[in-house]
This record gives sequence, structure tokens and C-alpha cells, in this order.
Amino acid sequence: MIFDLHCHSTVSDGKLTPKELLERAVDKGVDVLALTDHDTTDGIALVQKEIDDNELAIKLISGVEISTCWENKDIHIVGLNFDPSHPAMVEYLANQSIIREERAQEIGRRVEKTKLIDNVYLGAKAIAGEGQIGRGHIARYMIEQAMVKDNAQAFKKYLARGKVGYVPSPWPDMKSAIDVIHQAGGQAILAHPMGYKLSGKWLRKLTIAFKAAGGDGLEAAGCQLAPPHRQHLAALAQEYDLLGSSGSDFHFPSSWIELGRSLYFAKGVTPVWSLWPEYAHVS
Ligand code: AMP
Ligand code: MN
Ligand code: MN
Ligand code: MN
Repeated sequence: MIFDLHCHSTVSDGKLTPKELLERAVDKGVDVLALTDHDTTDGIALVQKEIDDNELAIKLISGVEISTCWENKDIHIVGLNFDPSHPAMVEYLANQSIIREERAQEIGRRVEKTKLIDNVYLGAKAIAGEGQIGRGHIARYMIEQAMVKDNAQAFKKYLARGKVGYVPSPWPDMKSAIDVIHQAGGQAILAHPMGYKLSGKWLRKLTIAFKAAGGDGLEAAGCQLAPPHRQHLAALAQEYDLLGSSGSDFHFPSSWIELGRSLYFAKGVTPVWSLWPEYAHVS
């Protein structure tokens, strides 16, 4: 069975609507899907309705990717299989939205200091529409204004940590995100541990801090992970008694990231779905 437990729609910085995302997941053979938009659960009900209306065989697990701060770095925690309507979660995500809006305005002011473009916040906001605004929308506005040629350049020159448009991580700590996921009945997963570009020593430090804060598992399978990285993550999961999750972190169709692709674990990983009665025996 294919579990893709990390992906994005237009409800945050993905480019497919929740409906299009679902159709693509079905097309790619995903059996169990979690939509994990940044700091919002707004797309989940839409996807579930689509599944129900069309009697699709795919199963949806509730999901969210929460932005947190650890050691001045943006660290992402994926929440899985929780109650999206739990009041503590609703309140937590409402606060994340406020932080996102304020941060986007501040990024806008900083990018405008280059004197290369104007109206950055409003331009990005128009692109985000009803969705949760993020740096991806600011990058798209920069492309639209011909300030950069592509998303990679927008981050590399202006939006990544330490660049002119970067706002120091304004997010709450990991523990608060893990706690709220638990309060709502779900599991907390350290997203894309290799994505933070940490040294081995720092990745271990992060894993220890995440575990100490109550974290349940780490993403040990992603579609671009090289086998040695999968083995490294499997070893970390075993050493710190963490479960494993798998997810593509799909944002838009491309040749390098695809829903459901290559989501296998290295040996020794206990999957997070071992806790979910329906899938407890799926390896
Ligand atoms: P935000 O949640 O607004 O801080 O934006 C984080 C998102 O920006 C990630 O989920 C990616 O979609 C994207 N992103 C972050 N870093 C990069 C990068 N170096 N290159 C391209 N996209 C990036
Ligand atoms: Mn994103
Ligand atoms: Mn992320
Ligand atoms: Mn993501």
C-alpha cells in the first residue's frame, strides 16, 4: 500500500486545488493520503466530500504542517490523524494565520527595500487568494514581476534564511505544536529531516529535542531521498524510539517530485500507521 502523508494544495502554497490533488493522488495509486497544508486544515473537508461523493477507494487521513521555531530555524511538524475541529487546534491555527499575515507583510517591506519591485504583500496576497499565504506566493509574485527567473532563484537570492527578504523565524516552539496535535488526538511527525541542511551532529540534536518535546515520529521516506539518507533516518528513528512516516511533500506537478513516488523505508522502521487500527498490520 502507498501512504503519502505529506502534500500541499492551493489552500496553502501548492498549485493544485484540493480536488485536483485528490484526482492526481488516485491516478498515482496512492492508497492513503494526508493533505498537510501549511498551518491550515481548510482543505480536508473538501477532499473528504469529493471522496464520499464519488465513492473513491482512497482513504484520507487528517493532516497539517505546522511551522515552528527551534534554535532560530524554521522547523516543520506534520500532524496526522487528529480531529481538525478540536478547539485547541482551531485556536492554534488561527494564531498561526495571524503570524503568517504579519510575517508576509514584513517580508514584503524587506523585499521592497531592494527598490526592484513594489506592492509585494498585496501582490502575493492576490496570488494566495483564500489560501494561507507563504513565501511560495511571494516567490511567484517576484517571478510575475520579472524580478527572478524561478522559485529556486527567489529563495536563493531573497527569501531563504539570511537573505534580505528573510524574517527571523516568528513561529512558536516545537513543543507547543506537538502538544496541540496530541490534544487533538493525533501524531506529531518531524517533517523532511534532511531538508534543513543540518550537519549530522545538528540533525541528531534536533531529533533529541523533538523527542524530548514529545514527538512521535519522523519522515523517513520521501520521493527524493537517497538510500543512505533513508538508512540514516531509519537508524535515528530506531535509536530514539520514533515511528516513521512517508510523504512526498508534493506542491505541483514536476518531473522530480510526484505523489506516491518512492515512499519506501529503509529496514527497521516502524510506520506511524502501526498506531492506526485499520492499518496496524500493513508494513
Ligand atoms: P513558508 O511556510 O512560508 O516559510 O514557506 C516554506 C515553503 O517554501 C516550503 O514548504 C517550500 O514550499 C518553499 N521553500 C522553502 N525553502 C525553499 C527553497 N530553498 N527553494 C524553494 N522553495 C523553498
Ligand atoms: Mn510549501
Ligand atoms: Mn515543510
Ligand atoms: Mn510540506
